[in-house]
Amino acid sequence: MKLLGHLDWEWVTAQSHAEGWRAHVIQSFSDRCERVLETSLEVPSAPGGWMHQFICEEHWLPLVYETEQKEVYRCPHGHNVGGPEVHAAWRALRHRELGDDLRDLALGALVFDDTRFADAALTLLRRYAELYATFNAGEAAQAWMLRGRAFHQALTEALWAIPVMHAITLLDAHIGTAEKRSLYGHLLVPMAETFKVAHEELIRQGRVESNYTAWLNAALGCVGFLLESDELVRRAIEGEGGFYHHLSLAVRPDGFEYEGSVYYHNFVVLAYVLLAEAALGNGIDLYRYTAPEGQNIRAMMDATLSLAYPDGSLPFLNDGAYWDGGGYWKGSILDRELCEVYEIGYSRFGEPGYGWLLASAYRRRGCSRGEWAAVLYAKDPIDGKEAPPLRTSVLPDSGIATLRPTRASHVVTLVYGPDGGSHTHHDRLSLSIWPWSTDPGTLPYGGRSRKDWYQHSLAHNVLVVDGTSQAILSSCCVFSEEEDGVSVASDKLYEGVFVKRSIAFHDSAVLDVMSVSSEQEHSLWWVLFLDGTWEIDGVTEVPSEHLGTAPPDLFVEVSARRGKSNEPLSACTVRDSVRYKVEVGASVPFEVLVGKTPPHASHYLGQREVLILCCEGRDVRFEASYGEEKGDE
Ligand SMILES: [Zn+2]
Ligand SMILES: [Zn+2]
Repeated sequence: MKLLGHLDWEWVTAQSHAEGWRAHVIQSFSDRCERVLETSLEVPSAPGGWMHQFICEEHWLPLVYETEQKEVYRCPHGHNVGGPEVHAAWRALRHRELGDDLRDLALGALVFDDTRFADAALTLLRRYAELYATFNAGEAAQAWMLRGRAFHQALTEALWAIPVMHAITLLDAHIGTAEKRSLYGHLLVPMAETFKVAHEELIRQGRVESNYTAWLNAALGCVGFLLESDELVRRAIEGEGGFYHHLSLAVRPDGFEYEGSVYYHNFVVLAYVLLAEAALGNGIDLYRYTAPEGQNIRAMMDATLSLAYPDGSLPFLNDGAYWDGGGYWKGSILDRELCEVYEIGYSRFGEPGYGWLLASAYRRRGCSRGEWAAVLYAKDPIDGKEAPPLRTSVLPDSGIATLRPTRASHVVTLVYGPDGGSHTHHDRLSLSIWPWSTDPGTLPYGGRSRKDWYQHSLAHNVLVVDGTSQAILSSCCVFSEEEDGVSVASDKLYEGVFVKRSIAFHDSAVLDVMSVSSEQEHSLWWVLFLDGTWEIDGVTEVPSEHLGTAPPDLFVEVSARRGKSNEPLSACTVRDSVRYKVEVGASVPFEVLVGKTPPHASHYLGQREVLILCCEGRDVRFEASYGEEKGDE
């Protein structure tokens, strides 16, 4: 077995006799394999498109995915959507699902010694070997895409190819020499060429740090080990665009991927881990490698853990696949990938916090622990794992502070990092306040929502100056620790405007002071999202109207107001038996708007409520406190 040969196969295959929690893992995996056998395993004869186009453009939502090809697909709002892009996007999802099914069946054949699974897996594999030469998806790709052959993007092709290659290695005993030659010649060799061309193109464009590179390296490494090609393995690990160089370029010294997105960070960790596992089976230990500024795989896993909220959820910073992807993914794409990373991470490092993160990701997905990674790696139970003792922590190079007061249940994420490229949101100096006002993340990229709403300053708890989104530069904010908290300041987000935000903790309250000073008078909007149902004092309902005529203001429907006043405003809500209270005021008279906005990625069928304090001035100070009282239902 050329890819996963280092695993304890005696233990893995003895699992059909497992007991206790492990028996549940095996039973759940067995059920999964049986379900796969019951579905049609017909491979779509056309290649896959771009999964972000499997959406309803009107409602910005992912369509309801089903394994069977349809004329039209259902929007969660009830109507049907079709069209060539939607069909190509469905095929992208279906091919990926079939790649995963292929690995499950191949693993099922080994674990349960069941030829039905092996036969079905071989049929799928032969079909892909027939079709691959006919695929030319890159022709239909958008101009900005790094092209693949079975998918518009080479990135998606790498995501699909790795489980396919795992299946090939797992089916070793079922594939004779002649068939192996044919499979390798028709599938692996041309696939390697696709990845090589894409990899070379990224190097040529000077974009080695891209998350694409991490996935191309994982795919090139796997195919290199299978084909026993030193050239491909060297390219994936030691070459100019290889793992070592990528780790040093794409990961900041604090262990977080440069894009500053929890999603893309974990996405890159997953690619690294898949490559590391393939390499480990071939005598190369990438887990032990540390890049010159201290970056390594373990530190990356720890960085994610350091951001976790008390319920094991994570802040949806910047762009990312944070939404519920539907049936195939079983929950959010982030959570599914977290399960793979932390099954492997927990077994490699035994860090209890990883088990806790893992348990919370499975819980959010409503999915039992019984996927391939659990079958291969899960050696310890995770049910009922207590939260690790997480403390206030800062990722200084990425500019993310996670503030955990000792006497309050609030956790505050303060963002002040450098530009992380095209997935960056204009959210510097923004707060995510767990549990009632966290970053909304994004919906699928195929529609206008990402650029017209989610990336804008107005979609975050920030200060918006003159109705425009802030600028983000490579170095825009100065962070400092203060006696009872922290502060971040910047004079680069808006020209000629100095903004400082200080967060402190007093008993069970969070104090949030934002001060603005400038030579000129500016329009200032202090923005705070309120998730759940809040009572807001002193506002009057008004006929709904848009905040403005162009995005992003167009997407705020103002539904209540309060006229100009010096009076502080208060609002409260009750959640899990805790009464949360917001009080906010300003040093100048201000107007209050309450509006409905596009949803949070984790509750995308509703809308969010936003509170905006509006005023004009040169020197203005906003003071807010976020308090809580326990036991008040
Ligand atoms: Zn719709
Ligand atoms: Zn955001």
